[in-house]
Amino acid sequence: MTTLKAHYDVVILGGGPAGLAAAIAIRTNTKASVLVVERQTPGQERLGENCPPEIVLLLKQLGVAREFYQANHQTCPGYASVWGHDKPGYNDFIVNPLGPSWRLNRSAFDKMLADKAEAMGAQLSWNTRFIGTQDNHSHTLLLAQGEDRAPFPVQAGFVIDATGSKARYARTLNIHKTIEDQLFATVRFSRVTKDQGTKQIQLEATPQGWYYQALLPDNKAVSMIVSEREILPHLREHNHQGFEDALAATTFVGPNAEKLQLQATSYHSCAIYSGILPTLEGNNWMAIGDAAASFDPISAQGIFKGIKHGIMAGIKVKNWLEDPKNVTTDYSQQVQQQFRIYQKNRNHSYGLERRWTDSEFWQRRMSA
Ligand SMILES: Cc1cc2nc3c(=O)[nH]c(=O)nc-3n(C[C@H](O)[C@H](O)[C@H](O)COP(=O)(O)OP(=O)(O)OC[C@H]3O[C@@H](n4cnc5c(N)ncnc54)[C@H](O)[C@@H]3O)c2cc1C
Repeated sequence: MTTLKAHYDVVILGGGPAGLAAAIAIRTNTKASVLVVERQTPGQERLGENCPPEIVLLLKQLGVAREFYQANHQTCPGYASVWGHDKPGYNDFIVNPLGPSWRLNRSAFDKMLADKAEAMGAQLSWNTRFIGTQDNHSHTLLLAQGEDRAPFPVQAGFVIDATGSKARYARTLNIHKTIEDQLFATVRFSRVTKDQGTKQIQLEATPQGWYYQALLPDNKAVSMIVSEREILPHLREHNHQGFEDALAATTFVGPNAEKLQLQATSYHSCAIYSGILPTLEGNNWMAIGDAAASFDPISAQGIFKGIKHGIMAGIKVKNWLEDPKNVTTDYSQQVQQQFRIYQKNRNHSYGLERRWTDSEFWQRRMSA
């Protein structure tokens, strides 16, 4: 367990892609003391692995491009999707000058960011939860290490909320996300013992939601059903036999899954929020990544967005150190603009599917 100090210039709550990128960017730009607080332990399984080609530009800025290329992340030639029509359509990255998109080895990717943050001088406190602020003082953070420890107060000059879509710190300031859509994902990770699969990411729309499947580095595969809360109990039925049955009933993703020999399967369910905070920053705090604005995974932009916000946090903290009373950046405008572009693209993607106009899933997506 890391020993916490009583004061840090910057405390970053959350050690996902956004929080770790912020730690690297801040230490690159400044000599500020930085603490990253993360409730998980290193190496715990995380969701999300598909990144656009542009991710490499951000990783160059963070100084980790070489480590990224040396790890066993895999490229992805494009998407194959049964969406809006009964036959698969193809969308290749061949024309993108930055090359193909990426299927990440998430544990290697997360370790790369954590190692770089530490090498740059940030302190990482794993297995540590932010549980609130002391006496309504927004910069006295209560942190609990391990399971049973009493919370330890830490003073932060500047606070970064990188706690993911629930934006835990913003809530203590009474700032709540405007949620415009909520979905539920059930994800299956498996080990592939015989790889006969396509390297393309596969998508398939059905009346109750959509399916996603990809081969991952290290002989792994991920399959996901994105649907609504009512469907979750069916998917969990009989030790997730419901998930297997739903996948097998598809015309494209299911038959492709059958070509892989899968073992050591694990299932995870989680809520997906699409929304943005009404206030994204103050003079001495900001929300970044999913805490600031969370996207539907159909966008495949979440990791990219988190890292981009982390880099922008590096600029804001530098400005704050130079003049704490008058911090000017265009961070909020950029995040709001990015959210509007996301909304447009998301609506476009869902709008392409018009086969089931009486399905509640598709009706709700169109009204959202
Ligand atoms: C099912 C699913 C599939 C997805 N697939 C993709 C994909 O293929 N590609 C993609 O780009 N994006 C994907 N996403 C989105 C992507 O995972 C997120 O956008 C991305 O992880 C956001 O990074 P972040 O650092 O902002 O938040 P997170 O990754 O959520 O990190 C937040 C961190 O804060 C920690 N934390 C939370 N509360 C506390 C607390 N109180 N104290 C201490 N620590 C705390 C959490 O443990 C977590 O590590 C997917 C999301 C889901 C749900």
